[in-house]
Amino acid sequence: MKQQLEALQQEALVAITQAEDLSLLDRIRVEYLGKRGKLSAILGSMGKLSPAERPVVGALANDVKVILESKLEKQRTYLEDQEIAKRLEEETLDVTAPGPFIPAGHAHPMTTTTDRILDIFVGLGFTVATGPQIETEYYNFEALNTPADHPARDMQDTLYLNDGSVLRTQTSSVQIRYMEANEPPIRICVPGRVYRRDQPTNRHSPIFHQIEVLAVDEGITFADLKGTLTVLLEELFGERPVRFRPSFFPFTEPSAEVDVQCFCEGKGCRVCSYTGWLEILGSGMVDPNVFEFVGYNPEKVQGFAAGLGIERVTMLLYGIDDIRLLYSNDRRFLRQF
Ligand SMILES: [Zn+2]
Repeated sequence: MKQQLEALQQEALVAITQAEDLSLLDRIRVEYLGKRGKLSAILGSMGKLSPAERPVVGALANDVKVILESKLEKQRTYLEDQEIAKRLEEETLDVTAPGPFIPAGHAHPMTTTTDRILDIFVGLGFTVATGPQIETEYYNFEALNTPADHPARDMQDTLYLNDGSVLRTQTSSVQIRYMEANEPPIRICVPGRVYRRDQPTNRHSPIFHQIEVLAVDEGITFADLKGTLTVLLEELFGERPVRFRPSFFPFTEPSAEVDVQCFCEGKGCRVCSYTGWLEILGSGMVDPNVFEFVGYNPEKVQGFAAGLGIERVTMLLYGIDDIRLLYSNDRRFLRQF
């Protein structure tokens, strides 16, 4: 029996040492030390021993039990430590590792340009106003000194709706609405979408965007117009050459258009029709007739107005040679901004 116990101890120690995980270790414990384990089986035959032998074998069996329990405990601690070390290794956070790439969106170049222009005017003391895109002929033409038989109505091919209202051809209609509702002094800028019956080309689109500017007060002169627009142009285009050119609009007198040198640097290209210049805005002193339509006294107040093409400015700022790219939603194009 002594030999049996020694053999069992040897065998169990080897099994314990070789156990590589906790569940296997537990099975070994049950196999050798459990109620129906191998040690119990040996002790079960103690009855066959002589009374003198029993205490000796009993003591030896107890020693084997203590040795195996202690070995099991050691191996358990060892395996648990290993498992924790392994978990820590796996869960380690490398704070120096580069983060995952998260693509970020950004504003459309038209939005960026609009915001820049509005920021400049707000900085000059203007407030932002808006108006409806579906207009009556009165606000879009008549009150802007453009009666039905006026040749300028042909200049702007208009899109009419069935009820006789129009898709506004210019943000200037908001001038009238704002002046009807407010008294001078007035300083507003009006961003918005406008519509013309036009064939889409690289320079023209039937839908485009303007920012209208209106200042009305006593003693406003053409110098205020030129000074304000010069600040705008210098903020937007820096040193790039610009020119004021006499023009005609029904609702301003005198009137001027402003050209900015094309991004071909004046050499001439298809975008500027080989002139070297791109017109970006129309402007002028508010016609006294317009003031009469809104009930202002033209003897008392003067004003200037300007309408800026946001697409043209965007094309000039970014060197875009086709207006249609701005509406295409082509991500290969948009990603560049
Ligand atoms: Zn050009």
